[in-house]
Amino acid sequence: MSTRTPAHRVSLSTALQDGLAPDGGLYVPERFPTLGPEAFAGCTTIEAVAERLLRPFAEGDGLADVLPGICEAMFGFPVPLREIGRGTSVLELFHGPTAAFKDVGARFLADSLARLNEGAAQPLTILVATSGDTGAAVAAAFWKKPNVEVVVLYPKGKVSDRQEQQLTGWSDNVQTVAVRGVFDDCQTLVKEAFQDEAWQERLRLSSANSINIGRLLPQMTYYAYASLRHWRAHGTRPNVIVPSGNLGNGLACLYARECGLPIGEVVFATNENRPVTHYLETGEYEAFETQETLATAMDVGNPSNMERLRHHYSGSGGAEALHDAIGAERVTDEQIERHVRQGPEAWDTVWDPHTATAVEAREHLDPDDEHEWILVATAHPAKFPEVVEPLVGHAVDVPEPLAEVMARSHPVPEVDPTLSAVADVVFEDRRPDATEHA
Ligand SMILES: *Cc1c(COP(=O)(O)O)cnc(C)c1O
Repeated sequence: MSTRTPAHRVSLSTALQDGLAPDGGLYVPERFPTLGPEAFAGCTTIEAVAERLLRPFAEGDGLADVLPGICEAMFGFPVPLREIGRGTSVLELFHGPTAAFKDVGARFLADSLARLNEGAAQPLTILVATSGDTGAAVAAAFWKKPNVEVVVLYPKGKVSDRQEQQLTGWSDNVQTVAVRGVFDDCQTLVKEAFQDEAWQERLRLSSANSINIGRLLPQMTYYAYASLRHWRAHGTRPNVIVPSGNLGNGLACLYARECGLPIGEVVFATNENRPVTHYLETGEYEAFETQETLATAMDVGNPSNMERLRHHYSGSGGAEALHDAIGAERVTDEQIERHVRQGPEAWDTVWDPHTATAVEAREHLDPDDEHEWILVATAHPAKFPEVVEPLVGHAVDVPEPLAEVMARSHPVPEVDPTLSAVADVVFEDRRPDATEHA
């Protein structure tokens, strides 16, 4: 249902295809199933946990029959929960193709949309504006999937070299366009395309941004799987710290707890951007101007999932209930730098700048090591060598899947920030007689 009109109820398939509700609200589950640890008896792999967890959400939907196949294909890489001492474990969500947690949501959405569009006369075209990491995850997930294609717009010269290599390693049904402008120009172009008649006529457009519930729900699997492993090994509920920006990953953790999984406290670690901590402190939501920090993927002044969070806790005791349900810790760049620098010695781990916010929250909240914590590692440190390498004093090896993506990088068309310039390359590529890209 929509956050703004509870009576507006749609199937899971419709929510995935539409992204945003027609009233401008965000889709949220109407209710949550009750799935305690006993409901997962016999579910030992993460794929089995995903299927058990997501099944109730697909009940009665066209996706129900194909859900096992989608869950089976969603990972294809490990999700280690690594104990690092002092009652602390790290949940490594960075073993996918683009080395950050967004791979799983993007892969679930890609597979679902490919299956939902089987037999369609025309493929669905996903249009994405990216400042770096989301576009890479979406491109990787949709690459070579049938019935769907992707156009990625990124601001030329405004992403790091390594990010650019992750955005330009695609072909076939994934087209990347470098825009001579900033991220906001790319976002404006996407909005214009959605409102443009020629685009609407030529293509069936859709989006895959982080407000799509199809990216959020599968991320619950991370928290189900990790908390079950902890519960089975120790019989206790771990607290979880989630590095957060738009709150999609953090909300997935709350939703998993809502389903009955054995999760204790949930803490959102943020960088210096204050909307989340301000909201939890005061109970009043206020958007802030976005501040640039070392944890760039969390530079969000007005988190899109705040609407889901507020909806979830509306009318259930106000600020106090919210305060009891969630913690939040705001972390400075100086603290991020300190934890990246000290990581190898203090925790025998090289942290990426985003995960470093969780480390600060962990040490600040529990200096005496009295509780059990899961720190969520959202990205591999090799994604951010400019920040990490000078602090740890050595090069960080690029994991194999990411190295493969980057090795495929090739020049892409560069255009002025106008819709007609983008249309020239996008439509040129789709002329009936246009030859396939190599
Ligand atoms: C996207 C991202 C985040 C923030 O996740 P949200 O779901 O937007 O809160 C944190 N770390 C990394 C590495 C990311 O890519």
